[in-house]
Amino acid sequence: RKTLRIGLIPADGIGREVIPAARRALEALGSDLPKLEFHNLLAGFDLFTRTGTALPRETVEVLKNGCDAALFGAVSSPSRKVAGYSSPIVALRKELDLYANIRPVASVAPDPKGKPAVDLIVVRENTECLYVKQETLTQTESGKEARATRLITEYASRRIGKMAFELALARPRKQVTIIHKSNVLSVTDGLFRETVRAVPQLPEVAGRFDSVGIAEQIVDSAVYRLFREPEIYDVMVAPNLYGDILSDAAAALVGSLGLVPSVNAGDSFVMGEPVHGSAPDIEGKGIANPLAAIRSAALMLRHLRYEDAADRVDTAVNDVIREGHTLTRDLGGKSSTDEVVEAVLRRL
Ligand code: NAD
Ligand code: MN
Repeated sequence: RKTLRIGLIPADGIGREVIPAARRALEALGSDLPKLEFHNLLAGFDLFTRTGTALPRETVEVLKNGCDAALFGAVSSPSRKVAGYSSPIVALRKELDLYANIRPVASVAPDPKGKPAVDLIVVRENTECLYVKQETLTQTESGKEARATRLITEYASRRIGKMAFELALARPRKQVTIIHKSNVLSVTDGLFRETVRAVPQLPEVAGRFDSVGIAEQIVDSAVYRLFREPEIYDVMVAPNLYGDILSDAAAALVGSLGLVPSVNAGDSFVMGEPVHGSAPDIEGKGIANPLAAIRSAALMLRHLRYEDAADRVDTAVNDVIREGHTLTRDLGGKSSTDEVVEAVLRRL
């Protein structure tokens, strides 16, 4: 590549504070990357309230035809139903077929060569489960009745399973844990569990995953064990909703949601996105932790195979955390978003 074209979609709330921070970190990498070309793109609930559209067609078109990768901030999806509104991030994941949400959660070891206490990846299926959002509300004699469809397919379970095994293969412990609730939901979660379990036996895989161990855990006890003994987990693969909940929970183990990055990955596109939401409680105060967004940019680079550049960013971020002088309030510090960005840029 001569140029690397990156779509920036800050969207709502602190997304507008942390995505510019991630951009600055990318710009500081200089000759480790091709020439960077940024495209600022619109989406979000604020945009919807102003224009009636949460995800303009142009945003999708530019991402599909004019970008190699993207960074997404966060959306403020209201908890009540708003006529005509649907979350743009859920739509984008589907539009671009970004079927895997990869969320590494790792603590920073006190010494640069030390082993982190928590070092796991939540691999969340990103296109189905309850997120197909087929909900109905009917009036019955005894009151309202709401129903939702939960879709689990062999196709999606197999490709997320392959992704989980592929990620595990590249890690020292090589362990996949399947998260499910098939003791109760034996049909839907049963299909997920069986399909992921069968991945190593697929003919096209041809023994590639023989060295990867498989474990499984029912989702509720997985959360319990995650809090008591997080070190037992390496790669956790889960249907969409469980994966979402597990990764927020895992974020608490490493100090803050403001530290945990993710990428939405498909076979031909990758979009970095901090795991946190738009944080309306701290929006506009200049105190949002930018490190999750900066790490998401690094994770995006890693998926584009710019490993050295990604390593540089991760090392700079880890050094800032380890040193502990320049931290935002969620980590017990007093620094502003900008001060933390400056600290990272100095180390780059
Ligand atoms: P949230 O992740 O926005 O915030 C949870 C808590 O963590 C808040 O106290 C917040 O201040 C704190 N926090 C989050 N990120 C932080 C950061 N970078 N620095 C410092 N503190 C941080 O979750 P929420 O409050 O439940 O949701 C707020 C809005 O975000 C909702 O409208 C929700 O729909 C949306 N949301 C969007 C996404 C997404 O865009 N993918 C994900 C989750 C929530
Ligand atoms: Mn979440």
